[in-house]
Amino acid sequence: MSPRDLLPAGLAAHKKITLTHGPTPLERLHNLGPQLGIDLWVKRDDCTGLAMGGNKVRQLEYYFGRAAAQDTDTILITGARQSNFVRLAAAAARRQGWRPEVQLEDRVPNDDPYYRSSGNVLLDQILGAHIHYFDQGEDEAAADRNLDAIAARLRDEGRRPYVIHLSLDHPPYGGLGYVEAAIETWHQLQAQLRAQGRRPPSHVVIPSGSGLTHAGFLVGARSVGWDVPILGVCVRRDAETQNRRVLTRAREIVDLLGGGIKITEQDIITDDQVLAPGYGRINAPTKAAISLAAQSEALLLDPVYSGRAMAGLMQFVDQGRIPKGSDVLFIHTGGAPAIFAYQTDLLA
Ligand SMILES: *Cc1c(COP(=O)(O)O)cnc(C)c1O
Repeated sequence: MSPRDLLPAGLAAHKKITLTHGPTPLERLHNLGPQLGIDLWVKRDDCTGLAMGGNKVRQLEYYFGRAAAQDTDTILITGARQSNFVRLAAAAARRQGWRPEVQLEDRVPNDDPYYRSSGNVLLDQILGAHIHYFDQGEDEAAADRNLDAIAARLRDEGRRPYVIHLSLDHPPYGGLGYVEAAIETWHQLQAQLRAQGRRPPSHVVIPSGSGLTHAGFLVGARSVGWDVPILGVCVRRDAETQNRRVLTRAREIVDLLGGGIKITEQDIITDDQVLAPGYGRINAPTKAAISLAAQSEALLLDPVYSGRAMAGLMQFVDQGRIPKGSDVLFIHTGGAPAIFAYQTDLLA
């Protein structure tokens, strides 16, 4: 059997619950593309539907599928203070009638009152998430252990918690959501190829954080024989560290699907030239990308992820790494609520 035949069965073996409004649109950016000298398309995963949307909704479908199978009544998750994942896990928990317990890490040195309390934090509060604070933001394993300790206390109180872990010690179930996203995108492209005679994209550009979106999309693409280069824009770690992480995660995702999909080192492409000064800290290229996308397309990008990924895309075109005239697919992973948390930086 070819990997193509294997995949839907491999995915279907995993329980999921539906949280998205998908399929999300695949749109052409008629103004921004010509300004950059490329044919630019965007996969609108900012429009996944739940509570202001974003890529984490697709990942949560698989974590919540597992949680539901375990008769959960409480969801635990950890993230940076302005985490979209935390906001969306809290939202998904409310949809299920479960209690959201969230841990906010001090991962970004930012004392700005908007950063500390607006954007996603405000939404966490409106969603009634029970908030815990954790001060060691750069130690993923420690953050997970602290979450497990909170879960143990809740279990003693008679609750049935399910923990969504972030560190490499735990399986990348969320990546399955992006296997599905890549296959969905591939089918949309095939339909457009037939209907409009468009070319297939020569490059895909995607943000690379925990790496599950990047790794999942890569595995999904390869599973249907789509061998497009997928450029991951580093938002948290340097390219070398991120490369290893994405390769590890991609191979784990293949294993979750029952094997049979080949991922090589050459498949993993990451770039960290727009990472400085570090995770969650704004820089000039990202600010410029946010303004340009808003003012040319009314496309709202965020300072931490999607704005950075667009800044990376613009650098690739500037440097000729993506040649002028190429057909490029940008994966918009959402993040708009963080715009309000960064208003001081964005208006400076
Ligand atoms: C988390 C996040 C990402 C990165 O996704 P990973 O799967 O962690 O790599 C990108 N964009 C947005 C808006 C996010 O919230």
